[in-house]
Amino acid sequence: MQSLNIKHNSNGVEILVRGTVQGVGFRPFIYNLASRLTISGTVTNTSEGVVIFAAATENNLKLFLQAIKEQAPPLAKITSIESKSSNTSIPEQTFSILPSVTTGFSEAAIPPDISVCQDCMHELENPADRRYQYPFTNCTNCGPRFSIVKTIPYDRPKTSMQVFPMCVQCSKEYHDPANRRFHAQPNACPDCGPTVSFHNRAGDRLESQDPIAETALLLASGKIVAIKGLGGYHLAVDAYSEDAVSQLRERKQRPEKPLAIMAADICQIQEYCHLSTDDVKLLTSPEHPIVLLKKKAKTKLAHNLAPNIDELGVMLPYTPLHHVLFQHPDCPEALVMTSGNMSGTPICTTNEEALSRLSTICDNFLMHNRGIVTRVDDSVVKANSTNSLIFRRARGYVPAPIEIPLSIPQSLGCGGGLKSTFSLGRRHTVCTSQHIGDLDNLESFEFYQESIEHLQRVLRLEPELVVCDLHPDYMSSHYADKLALPLYRVQHHHAHAVAVMAEHALEDPVLSIILDGTGLGEDGTIWGGEILRTDLTSFERLSHLSHLQLPGGDLAATQPWRMGLSALFSTFGEEGLHTSNLTRELGDISKENLTVISAMLNNGFNSPLSSSCGRLFDAIASLLGLRQVISYEGQAAMELETLARRKLNSSWLEDTVLNIKTNDAQFCSKVGGKWEIDSTQFIKMVVDGAKRGNPPAKIAADFHIMLIESIARVTEKLTEQTGIKQVVLAGGCLQNSILLEGLTHVLNHLNLKVFTGKSLPINDGAISFGQVVIGGLRHVSGNSHESNSS
Ligand code: ZN
Ligand code: ZN
Ligand code: FE
Repeated sequence: MQSLNIKHNSNGVEILVRGTVQGVGFRPFIYNLASRLTISGTVTNTSEGVVIFAAATENNLKLFLQAIKEQAPPLAKITSIESKSSNTSIPEQTFSILPSVTTGFSEAAIPPDISVCQDCMHELENPADRRYQYPFTNCTNCGPRFSIVKTIPYDRPKTSMQVFPMCVQCSKEYHDPANRRFHAQPNACPDCGPTVSFHNRAGDRLESQDPIAETALLLASGKIVAIKGLGGYHLAVDAYSEDAVSQLRERKQRPEKPLAIMAADICQIQEYCHLSTDDVKLLTSPEHPIVLLKKKAKTKLAHNLAPNIDELGVMLPYTPLHHVLFQHPDCPEALVMTSGNMSGTPICTTNEEALSRLSTICDNFLMHNRGIVTRVDDSVVKANSTNSLIFRRARGYVPAPIEIPLSIPQSLGCGGGLKSTFSLGRRHTVCTSQHIGDLDNLESFEFYQESIEHLQRVLRLEPELVVCDLHPDYMSSHYADKLALPLYRVQHHHAHAVAVMAEHALEDPVLSIILDGTGLGEDGTIWGGEILRTDLTSFERLSHLSHLQLPGGDLAATQPWRMGLSALFSTFGEEGLHTSNLTRELGDISKENLTVISAMLNNGFNSPLSSSCGRLFDAIASLLGLRQVISYEGQAAMELETLARRKLNSSWLEDTVLNIKTNDAQFCSKVGGKWEIDSTQFIKMVVDGAKRGNPPAKIAADFHIMLIESIARVTEKLTEQTGIKQVVLAGGCLQNSILLEGLTHVLNHLNLKVFTGKSLPINDGAISFGQVVIGGLRHVSGNSHESNSS
């Protein structure tokens, strides 16, 4: 293939570079480096990584190795560089790029999909460039990757670009090592690449000079357009139009869940939200995720984008198609860009799928003919005082491998029930899938199964064992059950904790504070407000929130009023349910409902016990009259946090620390050898506060602070008891930034070292990662497992 002439006194080495090094312009980088340093030899992509045979003077080889490490292309993520002297004869005088070789299983990572780069943007905006306004412009530094790859090594014939033979000019760029598009697999231009088309809701293609211009015009007139993007379809509407937004909500059956928007640039976003430098960094990072930002009070945005929530999900355009759309003079200044699906199902990827599922929602379609092999949603992140928090890990981040401290066999972690992901692990790396969603839905479960098979194929990984949740009824547990492999069942909150531990390479025991919605405990009750002593293969439950009943089981999680009544019952007994004692809002509950729930709470019928922190939040939200029924997961807790935030003063963190240091408080008692944090203390405070006429926002803030204080005080006791000074924070409730900030701050002041999710979410998106680590290590140490094979 490519070669150049070099002469030298040779010293030969073989170098293996592992990590995300394919499809990121790595081989041309090596080629150019070799020619600069007069190095002869070869470079090739293998399933293990990039292999280089290099011969040169000793000094130049040293410089070469150093430069590989220090000057690697922006998208490359090197995990290791191994070099040894080479026995094979290395060609003299030339350096060549050899064709990829496929052997054994694959250690090489496919890069994630990356937003359009500055160089490509210049071409897109330059009327003299042949790619002017071309919606599929890309190069080795940007563009689709994971979403178009069928298998590896990552080469064009193994992607959905296979059907677009390159024109002469594109092919020239592709084969020129000095060109920015050298081996850019999705390389394309208006002459040879994918194209857009415009369709009515029946799917008929409408003859149009400029489909993107038509789209802009329709959006401006308040219509809903389904737009095919990078990892799936979006549904777009004008974000200023309350009518358009409510029409979208109605048709999509998504009454209140916040909708994300896309705006042309940072200046535009500044009109709508408060921006810190960290926010800007996240918005403009190569991943271009949706960033959760604090809304400004008066903006042109429709009021129904994120009702009762002070935050808004915002992203910048990340494909050339989005940029071309926003550059059109008719295009609204901000667009709602929500996943192209019916609520709860996976986003549509093919044009056929979009036609059959979205035609009842949208008015028109902007389609294109570049295939999406793998579905990837937009990622959701938030800048935190210490680092950024990932809420949904998908486009831009997946499938980057995550290093773990110990080696594990080839393992599959099946995840939980909601916010599902799965993980595939081998040796020191784990690949955690993109966010898949709620598996109870048939389409999502199919997406889940297909994705497991696809990623196994891509990584050439054959699991020797499988790991799932203790809960036997999760679809992920059913999936694990059906595989003929040794099976390990892992407690949900142990998995939460180990996910954070492994990410931070913590091998010694830690105290993990897990504040979560639901996870089946080892004693058959539902856990979710726990402090565990945790190591990588086992745990001990040291403390938890005292139990509340969940009248109606799963229904209690969607109807906070049930938790409101349960809380009153556990705090004040039967008396608490007398209509005269109910708060005004709960007083609206029908007599019939009240009688049924009262009976259930009294006899325990279908009212499982739970230490869930999520349900405690629901109870408080109900008692404050904030929300009695939810329409999306976490709604009551998010609204309670929003309310509380409005009443927190600037010194609340310091005040809380001071209060813990100076005041004694009895928040917990030892029950059966475990510290129980009394849940009824919070209920009493709320009811008293309401009776005294305190504003709900003040009560909401007090509740947050009281919860932080009591957890911190128990943690302090447990530190004394165990000598452990490292604390892990995880679980869905810690997405609440008051809790996360507060606990981090207070625990730091108690001289504890605090860790939380960094490159993985702290919600159930990380369960599969924790599972793979726990199960893999148990397998190695010969721990007992259930055998599925008989
Ligand atoms: Zn580019
Ligand atoms: Zn071309
Ligand atoms: Fe969880």
